[in-house]
Amino acid sequence: MRQINVFTEEIIMSVLEANHVKKVYKTRLGGEGVTALKDVHFSVEPGEFVAIMGESGSGKTTLLNILASLDTPTAGKVLINGKDYSALKDGERAIFRRNNLGFIFQDFNLLDNFTIEDNIKLPLVLAGEDYETMDEKVLPLAKELGIESLLKKYPYEVSGGQKQRTAVARALITNPHILLADEPTGALDSKTGRLVMDLFHKLNEQEGKTIILITHSNELARETDRIISIRDGNIESEEILKPEKYKDTDIDINNKEEKPKKIRKSRKKNKEE
Ligand code: ADP
Ligand code: MG
Repeated sequence: MRQINVFTEEIIMSVLEANHVKKVYKTRLGGEGVTALKDVHFSVEPGEFVAIMGESGSGKTTLLNILASLDTPTAGKVLINGKDYSALKDGERAIFRRNNLGFIFQDFNLLDNFTIEDNIKLPLVLAGEDYETMDEKVLPLAKELGIESLLKKYPYEVSGGQKQRTAVARALITNPHILLADEPTGALDSKTGRLVMDLFHKLNEQEGKTIILITHSNELARETDRIISIRDGNIESEEILKPEKYKDTDIDINNKEEKPKKIRKSRKKNKEE
């Protein structure tokens, strides 16, 4: 595969690309299996805020897990910054994930025997960060999410909305440039939903983070740049909500077809000048 240097090539790969992704969950007894994704094909640009919508069972979580390299596709591939990370060994892939991606699970995935604070710190512990640095990073984030008074508590001692905010803090603690969130604004409480959404807007607008958000809320989805609708394991439609954000790209905002889009940036090749 051709390697692309994102800093020197005129044609920049998308930050994330799902290339004809198919996923079949095999049954244990070698039966038919469940086809969760049929042929999902789309790409996401650096700094985009994308919402993924679709009915329960349409394949959203499967797609997000595959985008995050937490699961492997049956066919097709996922490119991150133009690179196929499925080719990496497990250990390298885990490091890559930690350095680049923040993931918020639909069911939070907090560890019951860890305090809220230690749950948030977990990615840093795994990265071998020293304790002082960890402490410096946890507090501002916990304050921002309104959970600073809960740091010494355990997950079973806090509310659903507070668990959700803890999961958000854990996803952000490594300062990832791509954030993948599986219904973080779910029906638990609307105050948390709004808080999380405001934080996402801030991270997207002020820090240029790329965000992919699965949501059931049409209202929240309409605050993003683009809505991708999934139905029965395929992209059913795409809607661009902020055309102005796409004007410096080659993306045809009227094109409803889902093709992988290579983005031609105005940034020139330095190499040849
Ligand atoms: P959504 O997040 O949109 O609700 P999912 O991606 O969780 O959808 O599920 C898509 C389909 O794949 C569903 O039919 C679901 O039952 C099935 N599925 C999801 N995870 C598994 C799994 N681990 N094993 C078998 N089938 C699964
Ligand atoms: Mg789901």
